[in-house]
Amino acid sequence: MAAVPEYFGSMVFDDRVMKANLSAEVYRSLRKTIDEGAKLNIGVANAVAQAMKDWAVARGATHFTHWFQPLTGVTAEKHDSFISPSPDGGVIMEFSGKELIQGEPDASSFPSGGLRATFEARGYTAWDPTSYAFLKDKTLCIPTAFCGYNGEALDKKTPLLRSMEALNRQALRVLRLFGNTEVRRVSPSVGPEQEYFLVDADMWAKRRDLRFTGRTLFGAKPPKGQEMDDHYFGTIKPRVAAYMADLNDELWKLGILAKTQHNEVAPAQHELAPIYTTVNIATDHNQLTMELMQKVAARHGLVCLLHEKPFVGVNGSGKHNNWSLSTDTGVNLLSPGDTPYENAQFLLFLCAVIKAVDDYQDLLRISVATAGNDHRLGANEAPPAVVSVFLGDELAAILGCIEYDAPYTSIDTGKVRLGVDVLPKFRRDTTDRNRTSPFAFTGNKFEFRMVGSADSIACANIMLNTAVAESLKVYADRLEGAEDFETALQAMIRKTIQDHKRIIFNGNGYDDAWIKEAVEKRGLLNYPSTPDCVPHLLDEKNVALLTSHGVLSRAELVSRYEVTLENYCKTILIEANTMVDMARTEIIPAVQAFALDTAKTASAKRELVPGCPCGCETELVKRLSALTDEIYRETGALEETVLALATVEDIKAEAERIRDTVLPGMGRLRLPCDQAETLTPKKYWPFPTYGDLLFGVR
Ligand code: ADP
Ligand code: MG
Repeated sequence: MAAVPEYFGSMVFDDRVMKANLSAEVYRSLRKTIDEGAKLNIGVANAVAQAMKDWAVARGATHFTHWFQPLTGVTAEKHDSFISPSPDGGVIMEFSGKELIQGEPDASSFPSGGLRATFEARGYTAWDPTSYAFLKDKTLCIPTAFCGYNGEALDKKTPLLRSMEALNRQALRVLRLFGNTEVRRVSPSVGPEQEYFLVDADMWAKRRDLRFTGRTLFGAKPPKGQEMDDHYFGTIKPRVAAYMADLNDELWKLGILAKTQHNEVAPAQHELAPIYTTVNIATDHNQLTMELMQKVAARHGLVCLLHEKPFVGVNGSGKHNNWSLSTDTGVNLLSPGDTPYENAQFLLFLCAVIKAVDDYQDLLRISVATAGNDHRLGANEAPPAVVSVFLGDELAAILGCIEYDAPYTSIDTGKVRLGVDVLPKFRRDTTDRNRTSPFAFTGNKFEFRMVGSADSIACANIMLNTAVAESLKVYADRLEGAEDFETALQAMIRKTIQDHKRIIFNGNGYDDAWIKEAVEKRGLLNYPSTPDCVPHLLDEKNVALLTSHGVLSRAELVSRYEVTLENYCKTILIEANTMVDMARTEIIPAVQAFALDTAKTASAKRELVPGCPCGCETELVKRLSALTDEIYRETGALEETVLALATVEDIKAEAERIRDTVLPGMGRLRLPCDQAETLTPKKYWPFPTYGDLLFGVR
């Protein structure tokens, strides 16, 4: 086996390959497009296309595809082969600049939330040269944005790129105010930590709920769960270790910086974290990581579950979106610096994030809203649905001193004067880590922990980038006109702390008392469910933010509102139908079979021992019979509830009805089924139990 540095990125048309395979002139021109967004002329595109094709074909590729990220949340690709007929009856392999730059998939079946009626099937994909092309399954994949013919974004990448532009524009204004003339570009850096479960493929195949919905809809609590905390960072089992090694290889070949892996809190749960990179690449890489996690699992007889809550009573899975701001000169703007000036700048960027999170709590909550993630947020494990910021005691104390103009003990000069004092270095101490906070400062970055494990990280970062761009805009507008920069800066930081300190919370986010305090005393928003929060996407203040920074138009926002609610409804309805199906065709017959055999046992016993009371059998049959009756009743009731939705026309009303009637109906059906499971011997039970699934992989 070759050493990692030898094959790292071997499937990527990256900078090294470009340099080696393009003429100096073409390379320079392409770099200018990648780094500065300069327009690419067709001559250069043709040369790049030719080089890409030769490189790909030499590695066995036969096809190319524009790889894009529609609003479904997964990636899409339509493959075209390179072949082109030649006059002698054979074929040649061809790929033109035009084919590289733009594609026209028949896009009618992708959700657009009304942006594009189905009869206007045309949409086009446009090459994103900032994310390298790569090879996957003998296909050259070209990362692209996906738009309608009038330029309306039908995907997640377009608004993400726009939000990066908005943030860059405002951050540069602020940096110039600090006298920085060198930086030419500021980009968000993101490292998403990805949680997932691994279960045995044969067991998975026996569960229709896992196959159709990605989560278990039935299942009694196993005798052992996660109460011993013996899995977190525990020894990795051989089969899982082999999987992780294989997965790393595949990711490395694709130039994905897979770095850390460990067992998570729940049994069968694991995590993978890459080294952080620019957000649009991090987003592409995370999509690829999720895809490969599932593909590689199949080779090991495993199935990777990316659902946010595959098992009730066991921790769910999230994605920790570590976010910071990097300059093209290599400076992290969220890292406290060594000089007073750098520190003043750091505090301003820090305040910009605090203000952004407070002003747009709703957008952050909306950006992670899915039916799956609703099970996680608000349960006693993941961050709550209430958004707050954790700063740690040290930083909170410094902000407190600035707010009250009070002395800060660890600085000799007494009061913290921006632009004058050097702040103490903040310890990146793991004991100071608050794992319950939805949005935690961890020394030089923020960790947004509400993102669901199956979700694209694009949405969360679109909102975060844009909200921070807005804070920076407000700051730049005020500071550019200030008479004395330092006084204005100090005043503005103080005002941000005063206005937004309600969002700062360093305590236990899982505590019920916190939710009460957050909502009642601090006036923070609490939207436990998707239908609660998504309509606020169209609140005037949010529309104003996203349109004014050119990130999403009103029509694009309406489309996202519709698609998110539609997905919510469809997801839960598929779950409800799956439950009805499993209860009727698997669970009831299984319980009946056991009850019948128990009754037979009783009569057999009575034949042998006349007058035998058969207390156990009688009692069991009674209980099983009562449970089957209840299951039967609840199945019918759930089915009725689903059917009754046919009359609801408005998508918001439908989502609310589903939340208020279908979800509780599913809960009522599950209860007797899970009770029946605990009374029914394994040989009768139609599918693997929680115990089998969670402890089945050695
Ligand atoms: P943990 O949070 O588990 O202690 P780390 O803090 O080392 O682990 O890193 C978690 C993730 O954060 C990794 O993906 C890492 O690359 C990423 N990360 C580290 N520094 C930054 C940064 N400045 N900006 C964005 N992400 C970062
Ligand atoms: Mg972390």
